[in-house]
Amino acid sequence: QLIYLNGEFVEKHKAVVSVYDHGFLYGDGIFEGIRSYAGNVFCLHEHIKRLYESAKSILLTIPMSPDEMEQAVLETLRVNRYPDAYIRLIVSRGVGDLGLDPRSCKQANVIIIAEQLKLFPQENYDRGLRIVTVPTRRNVPDALNPKIKSLNYLNNILVKIEAAQAGVLEALMLNHEGYVCEGSGDNVFLVKNGKVTTPPTYLGALEGITRNAVMELCELHGIPCEEKPFTLHDVYVADEVFLTGTAAEVIAVVDVDSRTIGDGTPGATTLLLTEEFRKLTRERGVK
Ligand code: PLP
Repeated sequence: QLIYLNGEFVEKHKAVVSVYDHGFLYGDGIFEGIRSYAGNVFCLHEHIKRLYESAKSILLTIPMSPDEMEQAVLETLRVNRYPDAYIRLIVSRGVGDLGLDPRSCKQANVIIIAEQLKLFPQENYDRGLRIVTVPTRRNVPDALNPKIKSLNYLNNILVKIEAAQAGVLEALMLNHEGYVCEGSGDNVFLVKNGKVTTPPTYLGALEGITRNAVMELCELHGIPCEEKPFTLHDVYVADEVFLTGTAAEVIAVVDVDSRTIGDGTPGATTLLLTEEFRKLTRERGVK
């Protein structure tokens, strides 16, 4: 496995960054999680756009253009020969001194890792997930705005830990006002009376690429879809609940905090969107 490290490909065991990298010292950096399907990178432009927007927001200069970044992603995929890959793109502030001031970091580190994809077991899709809500709340302060895909994922890690403690794979986060935001690494949708709803990102959610694609698919199929705040009660009494994300794609949720959602099996709208999204991944790719 070859890792892209600042313009060069190096063996996995040699792909190392300094302990003085501010990504390591302070979580000062950004990342993207991208997928390729049969060699086509799904929504590559959208991921690169989000990366550069995250960088802009935290005043991080990426030492290459978005076009060069796209080419670097495609090249990483080519040299590793994984047609179905999970691609992790990381830009850290780079090596500096121990002080907080990022001006000591002269050059950002750009890292691209492509790995053979480990899919979730199909059983999860057929049966749907059981999830819970957790005490960790989604913060929306300026620098930790969830719209910035920064290396500060402690909040999300706490959610993962709390989910595991409850014996489930994923959990929902609320914000400080009690509105439902998203999962640890997925956006959330509910279906009620044929209408699809997802929280507006200003409540505290990443503007997921999969989320956007699913909203487009709803429009294409004449399914009413809107961004509207909702509470846990709305989740408990929904007809269907599902999560979306690059790794999980579209996945049904059949139980939230021990409340059975609908009849306890993946619903028709969720299954349709799961199927249509899979079709889209085969159509919308960059080679
Ligand atoms: N929410 C969070 C916090 C995430 O980290 C991710 C994953 O990237 C998502 C949602 C889903 O976003 P996407 O569909 O772009 O993968």
